[in-house]
Amino acid sequence: LFLSFEGGDGAGKSTQLTHLADWLEQEHGLEVVRTREPGGTDLGRTLRTLVLHGDDVDARTEALLYATDRAHHVATLVRPALERGAVVLTDRYLDSSLAYQAGGRELGMAELRDLQMWAVGGLLPAMTILLDLDPALLPQRLTGAPDRLERAGEEFHRRTRAAYLALAAEEPARWRVLDASRSVGELETEVRLAVAPLLGR
Ligand code: C5P
Repeated sequence: LFLSFEGGDGAGKSTQLTHLADWLEQEHGLEVVRTREPGGTDLGRTLRTLVLHGDDVDARTEALLYATDRAHHVATLVRPALERGAVVLTDRYLDSSLAYQAGGRELGMAELRDLQMWAVGGLLPAMTILLDLDPALLPQRLTGAPDRLERAGEEFHRRTRAAYLALAAEEPARWRVLDASRSVGELETEVRLAVAPLLGR
């Protein structure tokens, strides 16, 4: 079973991923692999540093670096884990590139989609959970030093959010959109309710 979490920075993806993983392990006895993009592998961690902390990365170059990270992540970590029957939870997957690079950076959606599908050999999650948050709430939620993208400005984050919502509306069978302004506990319950029907598949 392959599940992805998506959403803007500060929406709580990593917290919810951790809680879901603990629940699947402890209550359902499943092997769970917790991972992320960019940076789920050694090569990916190098790419993550380049893309997030390099200055002045051109938009197409950035899109290719994310796609490179993703191709390697799927080939070396995600597919092998799925093949041995593990549950894989990823904090961001190809929809991040569609929302950030097509939405935020305004590169072509159709071309980016083809690039992602090629990079991952067509592997899509069974479910994608969007933690949807108004970017106006962001400054209060982010902790620590912001990276280049977190400083990108509210308009960028608005376009990204709109792109996520459009993707979810296009493919409602795969997506669950949850209101991330609610408490951690409420969201945790909603995430479990969304995922429960997929268990045992
Ligand atoms: O979610 P995480 O903090 O790992 O994301 C790192 C940064 O990369 C975030 O600021 C996010 O906005 C950005 N990002 C991006 N395009 C992607 C994936 C992440 O701009 N495809």
